[in-house]
Formats: sequence, structure tokens, C-alpha cells
Amino acid sequence: MTSSARPLLNRSLAEFGTTIFAEMSALALRTGSINLGQGFPDTDGPEEVREAAVRALRDGRGNQYPPGPGVPELRTAVAAHQQRLYGLTYDPDTEVLVTAGATEAIAASLLALLEPGDEVVALEPYYDSYAACIAMAGARRVPVTLRPAEGRFRLDLDELRAAVTDRTRLLLINTPHNPTGTVLTREELAAVAELAVERDLLVVTDEVYEHLVFDGAEHLPLATFPGMRERTVTIGSAGKTYSFTGWKVGWVTAAPGLVTAVRSAKQFLTYVASGPFQYAVAEALALPGSYFADFRADMQAKRDLLASGLRDAGFEVFTSAGTYFITTDIRPLGESDGFAFCRALPERAGVVAIPNAVFYDHRDAGAPFVRFAFCKRTEVLEEAVQRLKTLAG
Ligand SMILES: *Cc1c(COP(=O)(O)O)cnc(C)c1O
Repeated sequence: MTSSARPLLNRSLAEFGTTIFAEMSALALRTGSINLGQGFPDTDGPEEVREAAVRALRDGRGNQYPPGPGVPELRTAVAAHQQRLYGLTYDPDTEVLVTAGATEAIAASLLALLEPGDEVVALEPYYDSYAACIAMAGARRVPVTLRPAEGRFRLDLDELRAAVTDRTRLLLINTPHNPTGTVLTREELAAVAELAVERDLLVVTDEVYEHLVFDGAEHLPLATFPGMRERTVTIGSAGKTYSFTGWKVGWVTAAPGLVTAVRSAKQFLTYVASGPFQYAVAEALALPGSYFADFRADMQAKRDLLASGLRDAGFEVFTSAGTYFITTDIRPLGESDGFAFCRALPERAGVVAIPNAVFYDHRDAGAPFVRFAFCKRTEVLEEAVQRLKTLAG
């Protein structure tokens, strides 16, 4: 036992407490609510991919420590995927690194590339691990707030420029964007790229929802913009693309120097992970284009179902151009505090959602916004929509 009054939790992490997901999932369980809080599918991904994992396990592939950078089959498949979809060429041996999900890719990238005192410009609201990893690296986060205009959350390019100082080391970008569901436009991405080149910044871009862009839009990787190939660490993951969020297979693609740096941090986090699943994901990445088209169409139908239900219930619904999520504004319901609203919603309507304010430093800027996940079975979404109707009175 410690006898000192010193807190047990290291001061860089003290502000992070427990995540909202634990509180809200417990609330869902206690009240028998439909949980549209946390973003994970309630059905597994393709059977042939699951079978590929079983085969790998049975054949003894990946049951012992796989190679540090990832199994060659997967690194080759990742490189082929980037080439086929985006025309980006990466050498599987020196420019691809397999990680324990995108979560480890984010952590390893930030721990490797940041020095204490560096500033990281990140889009707010942010995915919850960004702030914690920046803190663990001893760096400082500088949020640029995405603000709603004409039905979508947009990036203010002047605000972005103003956020960069002489201490800025990297831009941390996420598109398609969790939690807002916004997809950065070509114009917004071009401005990010120009700024990065002009100020000689590194860019870490979290593109785990690359296959979940809707309404016929295409995903535009930041690494394809002029001057970006050499300065960008692109993060992908099988979790969201193949509906196997428990497998934790992610990857980084970047220039050799960046991959070497990220690998240096990664080797002391997990060293390696998910051996047999790496082989299965290598097969998944080679699935025909029809898999991705069907997956996208299915998720888009779910989005439409939930969006119209939320609108009927009285929410303002922002365009979800990608991801698993819809962000709403609760002010048309006569509410303004997303925390209070989400704590009361299970009793009022039997549905759980997440207050976006938890993803902001500027809590006030996020106060009226609430996020709902639509990566659930159609009948579950239909029931949720029925329940939410009670809000319309
Ligand atoms: C889910 C998610 C991750 C984490 O991905 P894993 O592969 O499960 O670690 C990272 N970034 C964003 C934006 C996510 O939504």
C-alpha cells in the first residue's frame, strides 16, 4: 500500500477518468434500453472471413508471435488495397506496419512522433483516445472545432490556420469523422494538405471508416494530395470495415522513416497481436468490390432509417456522410444539455445515446449535440425509432 497522499494515477491521465461508454452501457443494461451509444455492430462480418480465421488457427498460422511488422500476407494485402482503391503505392516491407487495431496505431504514432511540449492540432470533437495519447506523449492538444453549417459539420480553414504555431509538430485528422459523421470535402482536405506542406508538418490521419462513405461519395485519402505522401501516416483498421471490432487488426501506411519510427514505439506496446486474425484480414482485403458496395448500401439504409426516425422524434439531424454515427441537435426538443438529456433518455424512451460534449475540450461548443450509432440490426433500429417517438409527445 502507498502511504503518501500522492494520487495513484499519473498526472497526464488524471483528467480522463472512466469513459462515458462504461456509464452509458451500465445504464442501458439497468433500464433494458436499446444501446445506440457505443459503435459496434450487433452482427458479425462475412462468414468467409470468419472461416479464414478458423483455418488459420487450425493450420497453426499466427498462433505464435507473428513478425513484428505484421505477417507478410497482410502487409502485401494492405499495400494492394491502397494501390487498387487510391493509386497509392506502398512497399509492403518498409511502408506498411500492422498494429493492434487503429487504437495502437494512433498511440504508437503519437508516442513516436511527439516530444514533450509539441503541439498537436486536432479536429474537435475528437475520438476519445486522441487526447489521452497526446497527453501520454507529454504534448499539448490544440483543438480546431468543427461547426455545423448548412446541415453538416464543417472545418473552418481560417481557424485551422490560426491554430498552427511554431510549436506545432503534427496535424491529427480523422475522415470520415467520428462522432459527427462528417466527411471532409476535397476543398477542406486540400487546405489541410497545403497548410501541412507550407508549415512542414507531419500528418496522422485516421481513416478507419474509409469504406463507410454514403450517397455515392468516394473516400479521399489525405496521402493522395500533393506533397502529402511523404509526411502522412495513414491509419486503417479491419474492425469497422469487416464488422469484427473484437479482432483488433489495424495498420499504418507511410514513408519508410515514419513507419520505422512508429514501429519503434509499437514494439514496446503490444510487440505483436492478433496472429491468426492477420491472415483472415489479408483474405478479407482481397474480397471483391461487391462486398464493399453491399456493406455500404446496407449501412446507408440503416442510416436512413435512424435519421428519419430521429427527425420524426423532433431532433435536428446533421448529415451523416460516413461512419457508424448520426449527430443530432436536441435544441428543437426544448433541451440544451446533452449530458442531462442522455442520462434521462433511457428512462424516458428506453434508448441510450452519447453526449458529444465528452469529445470536446470546449464543452459548451458540444453541449447540445448527441450521437446515435446505426450499426445495428434493422429490427433493433426500428424498435429504437418506435421508442423515440414518445419524445415527440
Ligand atoms: C473505432 C475507431 C478507432 C479504433 O479502431 P480499432 O481498430 O478498433 O482499434 C479509431 N478511430 C476511430 C475514429 C474509431 O471510430
